[in-house]
Amino acid sequence: MSALDRFATQKLEALEAKSLKRTLVITNRGKMSSAERVIGEDRHSYISFCCNDYLNLSQHPAVIEASISALKKFGTGAGASRHITGNHELYTELESKLAAIKGTDDAVVFGSGYLANLGGIPTLVGAGDLVVVDELAHACIHGGAQLSRAALHIFRHNDMAHLQEILKAERAKAQHALIITDGVFSMDGDLAPLDDLVPLADEFDAWLMTDDAHGLGVIGEGRGSSFKKVVETGDLSQKYDVPLQMGTLSKAVGSYGGYICASQPVIDFIKTRARSLIYSTGLPPATVAASIAAVDIIANNRYLCAEPVRKARIFSKAVGLNEVPESCIIPIVLNDPNVTLKASQLLQEHGFLVTAIRPPTVPEGTARLRLTFCADHREEDILRLAKIIRDEILLQS
Ligand SMILES: *Cc1c(COP(=O)(O)O)cnc(C)c1O
Repeated sequence: MSALDRFATQKLEALEAKSLKRTLVITNRGKMSSAERVIGEDRHSYISFCCNDYLNLSQHPAVIEASISALKKFGTGAGASRHITGNHELYTELESKLAAIKGTDDAVVFGSGYLANLGGIPTLVGAGDLVVVDELAHACIHGGAQLSRAALHIFRHNDMAHLQEILKAERAKAQHALIITDGVFSMDGDLAPLDDLVPLADEFDAWLMTDDAHGLGVIGEGRGSSFKKVVETGDLSQKYDVPLQMGTLSKAVGSYGGYICASQPVIDFIKTRARSLIYSTGLPPATVAASIAAVDIIANNRYLCAEPVRKARIFSKAVGLNEVPESCIIPIVLNDPNVTLKASQLLQEHGFLVTAIRPPTVPEGTARLRLTFCADHREEDILRLAKIIRDEILLQS
């Protein structure tokens, strides 16, 4: 065995011993949150409660139609980076629709959400600056923050006193400061406390950025976490003043790509300097066309956008969870990875697909089932799932 193969084999064995080895399983998603898993000759169909296609727009006829016609008109690939010849006309349309839904001057679309954070953050802060990130913020925020070479500080999850403490100690040493958090936390489903974050950022002259990968299409009539209070009060002036609203087109939008919405100078600057935009090929036109059609649906269907959270609330009430969910993500934390894998297996035996989420996706000792609720989930299926989780998982553990 070569040294390289021995290295990989030993690493894998160590992970397997801790129930942390991961293997890819063929999963074919179909209509109505159904998913087929293929293992060897075996094919099993499940109702999926772990997709992020919250509005089922990846299957929507108008979205598919828009994608097919762009495919026929423009071909399969963008052919180059957006700064060379990859900036087809569909980009302009998508960016103006995203800016409109978020209430900003403009937007910039990247190849993915991961690339938006990896490229966007280092464009805004660098050596001599400060970046402060929530400990549970998405991996690509931590990645972008590290790449930036700014002084990086992590605050305890949603702990405003801790954030303030860091800003008090560190802000004066830095030229610019950036605070970054998830608008909706991807593995926990809770929201960032924007009521406190916005004034705190202001007080310390720091820029605030939210990653709303799980907010667009779901929170604030589909416009994202910055619009949460607008819905409660019906007053557009209640929008949270978050100057950098980042997100993805791969979740509720049902397509692929990432974006940052901000003011004109900020977007122009990011388009000029973000390395993951400059040195990576533009998105396939058909993908951008699908996003345009899906964003249109989100902008015009606030009742559809309210469905995922409504479904999550039906589930949480049926299980008897204490907190009323604010998003369509509900974690059932079982702590031990092996216990979590077994719980996931049990749900599969009942026809439900809920994959186990293990470290390092979540912190050590907090392995969980991460349930996501979609617009098309049927109430009877939600109640059946809730009963199994309550009686066969929670009461047994
Ligand atoms: C999924 C996700 C991303 C990455 O987006 P992709 O478009 O899938 O690369 C970034 N941030 C958060 C919070 C996410 O959940």
